Amino acid sequence: MAEKQITVTSPLMPSLEEFNTYLEDIWKRKWITNNGYYHKELEKALCEYLGVPYISLFTNGTLPLITALQALRITGEVITTPFSFVATTHSLWWNGIKPVFVDIDPVTCNLNPEKIEAAITPRTTAIMPVHVYGNPCDTKRIQDIADKYGLKVIYDAAHAFGVRVNGESVLNAGDMSTLSFHATKVYNTIEGGALVMHDEQTKKRIDYLKNFGFAGETEVVAPGINSKMDEMRAAYGLLNLKQVDKAIEWRKHVAELYRAALKDVEGITFFNDIPGVTHNYAYFPIFVNAEKYGMTRDELYFKMKEHNVLGRRYFYPLISSFSTYRGLESANKDNLPVATEKAEQVICLPMYYGLSDEDIEEILKLII
Ligand SMILES: *Cc1c(COP(=O)(O)O)cnc(C)c1O
Repeated sequence: MAEKQITVTSPLMPSLEEFNTYLEDIWKRKWITNNGYYHKELEKALCEYLGVPYISLFTNGTLPLITALQALRITGEVITTPFSFVATTHSLWWNGIKPVFVDIDPVTCNLNPEKIEAAITPRTTAIMPVHVYGNPCDTKRIQDIADKYGLKVIYDAAHAFGVRVNGESVLNAGDMSTLSFHATKVYNTIEGGALVMHDEQTKKRIDYLKNFGFAGETEVVAPGINSKMDEMRAAYGLLNLKQVDKAIEWRKHVAELYRAALKDVEGITFFNDIPGVTHNYAYFPIFVNAEKYGMTRDELYFKMKEHNVLGRRYFYPLISSFSTYRGLESANKDNLPVATEKAEQVICLPMYYGLSDEDIEEILKLII
């Protein structure tokens, strides 16, 4: 029994002292939102850190998804994964687009490229994959299919902050990628998010769209939304960026301890590092095979909970099983056997900067 509750995550926070210095500066400037000093500084710093050419900050990670679809004028049907957080599919709903769920790959839990072509219809205009848990999608295969059928690709990269493949940011794949800087993510600005794009023209257009569509004082070019990040959160974000490498190192250590202890446990599987990939250790999901492990996922989940260890069943239930979406033809379980199985097996173990070796030991005792 863990003495205090161990949660699945805990936010990375800057030192209050440093944050206060930045706040004092903001109070002096008296410019608290609308592309202020810290907003510009954070965009610059993120481009450099992430290795991307252009970025636009948002108030959360959902509005960049909605805005990317609007900017690219996506309509009709979009192919997506049911094994994600609901925001992915909700962004389609908000644009009046019909989601078409395609099953996931059993190894990566990402949208299975092998299954995409069969789901394409004359109404398909785009693919929206997710780099789930920060595992990179097969971006090359997906792009090949998109090119062949003339489709756009928008990545929900909410989990993929800092992830690289052979040194190249995974955020540069597709037409655009979105990030979430929510408190629960690897890197946070309390609430926040961003859209990554390839060219200056698109960046300009996105900046209009997140500010009601204003392109100057008197001109409105589109029915945009309000999703501007304020100066306090941008300043907080600048400070957090300075310590995110340290946080990822810590997470890596946690993952190594979990892996070493769980590798010989019958019926428990997990992800290992992929050669060539710079991981961010955003989550540590384990998959429970009830038959081999001798206990179901839910039995283990509730046992952990009783002992004050709060794992989370990400992603269960599948998005396709929520009332809004379950009536869709593609939401049928027979269409999604792998996603259905993974959703029934998964538990994300506690994973955050500051999680102690002693706490990890307590958690592992409940599983082994
Ligand atoms: C967190 C998350 C989002 C939404 O981000 P918010 O910042 O909470 O709006 C979108 N997609 C995925 C996959 C996420 O995990």
